Amino acid sequence: MNTKKFFITTPIYYINAEPSIGSACTTVAADVLARFHRLKGEAVFFLTGTDEHGEKVAEVAEKKGLSPQEYCNQIAPKFEAAWKLLDISNDFFIRTTDPRHEKVVSEFLQKIYDSGDIYKGKYEGWYCVGCESFKTETELEDGHCPLHPPEKTVWKSEDNWFFKLSSYVPEIIKLIEEPSTNYVFPEGKKSEIIAKLKAGVRDISVSRESVSWGIPAPWDKSQTIYVWIDALINYYSATQFLEGKADFWPASLHLLGKEILWFHTVIWQAMLLSAKLPVPLKTFTHSFYTIDGQKMSKSLNNTIPPQEMVDTFGSDGSRYLIATSFPAGDDADIGMARFKEKYNADLANNFGNLVSRVSKLAQGLEVKSNKDLGIDKEFEQLLAICRFDEAVKWIFDTYINPANLLLNQKTPWTKPPEDIERQEVLRSCIEKITIASFYLSPFIPNVADKVKYTFEGQVKPLEEGLFPRIK
Ligand SMILES: [Zn+2]
Repeated sequence: MNTKKFFITTPIYYINAEPSIGSACTTVAADVLARFHRLKGEAVFFLTGTDEHGEKVAEVAEKKGLSPQEYCNQIAPKFEAAWKLLDISNDFFIRTTDPRHEKVVSEFLQKIYDSGDIYKGKYEGWYCVGCESFKTETELEDGHCPLHPPEKTVWKSEDNWFFKLSSYVPEIIKLIEEPSTNYVFPEGKKSEIIAKLKAGVRDISVSRESVSWGIPAPWDKSQTIYVWIDALINYYSATQFLEGKADFWPASLHLLGKEILWFHTVIWQAMLLSAKLPVPLKTFTHSFYTIDGQKMSKSLNNTIPPQEMVDTFGSDGSRYLIATSFPAGDDADIGMARFKEKYNADLANNFGNLVSRVSKLAQGLEVKSNKDLGIDKEFEQLLAICRFDEAVKWIFDTYINPANLLLNQKTPWTKPPEDIERQEVLRSCIEKITIASFYLSPFIPNVADKVKYTFEGQVKPLEEGLFPRIK
């Protein structure tokens, strides 16, 4: 039998900052999807990592009196540690300073060069060091990048190697407009990209003369590969240098934030077409979190570090809260106060309390385990469009709330343990709980394991509450 393959990626996080709720948002979402596809019996490859080259990294390292590599070696483990805290099940953590990645980047660029798509030119324009990219006049607000402070935008003029991005525009438009593809998803993003493509696309420089912290261009060692080009190739390079992963290319899904949509759907696609490689099957672009109505920012110091989330809600609680507030459409507003409210309402007072009541009443009762559960189509469809909030609501509406209702209507605790009706009611509640837990397992894997253990064979006592109430 040919096992279905699912290759999912997060963007690799730029290493000039530490892990935040923003990067946790994409990573938790990818993890939920990776776990769900494993649940379906697919062969899954889940990739995340860090983007470590470029001017900005060299700048930060210098300020700290470190070499860029020393600096990267200090920060990359912080990402790995944050994802461990959140029980992220990535199969590999890629770092773009890995020599194996660097080798694939060189080979990839050489292929593009050999296909005649690289030429030498002069680049002049406004450059945002924060984004590490050139900006057109229309992308600037009051003369600077809207995502970064004014001093990050500088006028640059240098001799670079250029990639013939413009010559791939017709092919990219065709691919995006093809109804059977999900290359740009959700739907609304398609028109945004198509409009930008039709407005005219300039070729892009793929090398830097003045940046030494990067991978040398294979045909001109005096220049380094532009950090974005190097970073995008990570998705492909990991499948090439890791054993047994070659079949996973093309990626099934690139999960990304809206600020990097252009790079992932236009530039990356053109690079792959030039290198004569298959393009990814789907990209999903999410919006941002705002925190208590405000943009997340370093100066406001209003971000929520993953450590603080886990200290408060535990790993499963944090994962649940992050996933169910995932900004699949518009920006989503989050905050610790609302997180506490939702945690108590959904997990402590509802699901956790239900499991604890039923496990106490049913202690010692013999239960049959659910046989192979087919995956519900509605639930599957909601995950495919990253509507984790709706998917979880479906679990509560279909299993958890009916179990609570049944329990409260039939009051099995008023009857003795040997009463047949009492046992039937409890078995029915247990069936609903274990199915709910099966569907919840991509979100709350540790609790799902405990639930499974509790209701396997003879019902065992729960040592402690699954989700202790938070004051
Ligand atoms: Zn910027």
